[in-house]
Amino acid sequence: MLFALTATVALSAGSTFAAEYADTLRVGIYYDSATVDSLTFNSDTGFAAGVVAKREFVPMISVSGSSVTVEKASAGGSKKFYVSYSVCDDAEMVESELLKIRNLGIDVFAGYIDSEFHILSGTFENNNDALWEAENAAVKGRVISVSAKGTCLKNSSGKTLLVVDDGECGLAVYSKNFEDKNALLNISGSAKGSYRGGFESKILSDGKLTVVNVVPVEEYLYSVVCREMSPSWEVEALKAQAVCARNFALRRINYHSKFGFDVCRTVCCQAYSTSADNSESVHTAVDETRGELLFYNDEVVQTVYSSSMGKRTENVKNVWGSNFPYLVSVENPYEDTENIYNGKWSKSLTKVRATEIMKAGGFDIGDVTDISVIERTEADSVLKLQVTGTKGSKVFERERCRTIFSEATYSQRYTVSNGGTKTYPSVTVTNGDNISVVGTNKISVLGGNGNISTVANDCTAFNGKSKKQYKAETTDGDPDTFVFTGEGWGHGVGMSQYGAKGMAAAGFGYDEILTHYYTGTHLEKAY
Ligand SMILES: [Zn+2]
Repeated sequence: MLFALTATVALSAGSTFAAEYADTLRVGIYYDSATVDSLTFNSDTGFAAGVVAKREFVPMISVSGSSVTVEKASAGGSKKFYVSYSVCDDAEMVESELLKIRNLGIDVFAGYIDSEFHILSGTFENNNDALWEAENAAVKGRVISVSAKGTCLKNSSGKTLLVVDDGECGLAVYSKNFEDKNALLNISGSAKGSYRGGFESKILSDGKLTVVNVVPVEEYLYSVVCREMSPSWEVEALKAQAVCARNFALRRINYHSKFGFDVCRTVCCQAYSTSADNSESVHTAVDETRGELLFYNDEVVQTVYSSSMGKRTENVKNVWGSNFPYLVSVENPYEDTENIYNGKWSKSLTKVRATEIMKAGGFDIGDVTDISVIERTEADSVLKLQVTGTKGSKVFERERCRTIFSEATYSQRYTVSNGGTKTYPSVTVTNGDNISVVGTNKISVLGGNGNISTVANDCTAFNGKSKKQYKAETTDGDPDTFVFTGEGWGHGVGMSQYGAKGMAAAGFGYDEILTHYYTGTHLEKAY
């Protein structure tokens, strides 16, 4: 079970949505530092392949067999040459046109090059070889080239089935029965598994494949609700989560446009993974709230949420500095903070580690000697945290009070104390001549000669008859360690997931849960 909790959420300014909503979502699977050289798909039913244009799958060919692979068309990086025998008016003509040319004895496959549907042969390494073929085949063709951004689809015997080279549309692979909402397609690689919807593969500037799962919004929610909340929870809580996840996703259309998709699959957006999402209660929660969105006036609400929040939620202005009238602090009475995972927590951080974190963050304040809360919010979260070192101090504000020492702070609501103070016993020795001392200089010793000397962290006093061991004791913890004690897990703004669970268990409906956590909002069926 994953919760959206560590993400730094960039809230976009409140914008009024047009009454049109995307019905598919593009979810980044392999991108940025995790692009791939090739991707293998498996399906029991065979495949449909083509391109994705404006979020819609445009099927060109159907492929039998149980596996296909997408890779770069121009392995080695140089551009490749093909002979085009025919350009089809639309995608639906491609298969019959392929058949027609094949009947002339030419081994052809489909292509989508610069917005045109081609019937191609190849691959040719150079223009001359392609030209010879174009002149001498049973039907005259023309030579076209494919850039380093071209991709191709091959069957399991390595035969080319489709080549795509287009600025807008990527190569799309779906399962053959893609119109069935339960159709699953299996992919290889680190995000391997079965997914709903299909996949679009494109080559971006790093020369590798960026892979995007194109999935209907409602089917995307099956996975997200399963990942963001336990499917065993009350269905009204799952419904509230479904609406939150739907709002959140529809506000993030084009959020990762740099890589050509809307949302990623991590908690940066919402946790999404392979569709082992057959929880009946989650399907019920999504299906029974289909198309329902939460609005503030006519604005689709920014439905941020996190695992738990303790006694109150936090005003967004105290976390991200932005102002949303519906993201204000409200009571959170139904959250069972005492008994839930990380509801109440206490974590320690050594001064050495605090110093390392400051250094790594570029804050040159020397060795950390003190960490103090200097201002709190009305909801009792930390608004300003001062870290003092031997060379200076630094004040952190809002969300940074949670994230700067994130290994010791699960939320923004905590107290911090110095781990303890050392106290030292006094040792009285009646015969100073007989004292023997081991160690350094912390314990006070009153010798038989009347002198007080400060001796060891640990010392052994010997009075001529027996030895006694003394230890410099730490009575209430380790003075070289800070202890953070707090409540809640996550950023603390919007809906508390455990609070929603508690409200559902107490008999509240999902609409009541949502309007409690998002002040002044209302539910509406948008589609
Ligand atoms: Zn993201």
